[in-house]
Amino acid sequence: MNKGGVFIVSGPSGSGKDTVLAELFRNKPDLLFSISSITRAMRPGEREGDKYNFISREKFEDMIKNDELLEHNIFVGNYYGTPRKPVEKAVNEGKDIIIEVDVNGAAQIRQKLPEAVSIFIMPPSFAELKRRLVGRGTESEELIEKRLDSALGEIKRAAEYDYIIVNDSITAAADDIMSVILSSSFKTDRQKNIIDEVLSKC
Ligand code: 5GP
Repeated sequence: MNKGGVFIVSGPSGSGKDTVLAELFRNKPDLLFSISSITRAMRPGEREGDKYNFISREKFEDMIKNDELLEHNIFVGNYYGTPRKPVEKAVNEGKDIIIEVDVNGAAQIRQKLPEAVSIFIMPPSFAELKRRLVGRGTESEELIEKRLDSALGEIKRAAEYDYIIVNDSITAAADDIMSVILSSSFKTDRQKNIIDEVLSKC
């Protein structure tokens, strides 16, 4: 069996990446999503285990100590981390998995899994990003300012990614990610088994 692919997806708050990813998962239900463990408070509309496991700082620090995380980072005062086991399981079972992380998390994963493919979701403009963040109405002005600050820092690091997809249309951006997933499934490092299989029967 060929190994599954790991796809790192980043994009600043307000880039619309959650909506794009929701569209992608609607079109490609066999794709897996890495559920992050995080310590920030749940927002209205969020559900435990959907995208995040909401845990205490103590539990998070235990996970760090026990080396249960593939990467972790502090973002606007809260811990965010990717549990290691589900990612390893997906890859070994030949399934593709999306890991949504910030730029620091992406850099840590690239170090550990150099074969991972990274995609940056870019908002069409900074003004649009700001409009989306303010329009969401779920955070205080101070938190929005912090998120805008961090968005600027993330956009400055977009060149670290293999692909940049501009989100000016949700369906087009989801299709673009699908193309990346499809083309990377043909990469030689994902198809080592086929070489052995063909050679074993000659
Ligand atoms: P939010 O609080 O808006 O849901 O997420 C804030 C930031 O944390 C986003 O940039 C998001 O991509 C990132 N993020 C989500 N899960 C993880 C994770 O497991 N690790 C890291 N490093 N960042 C994450």
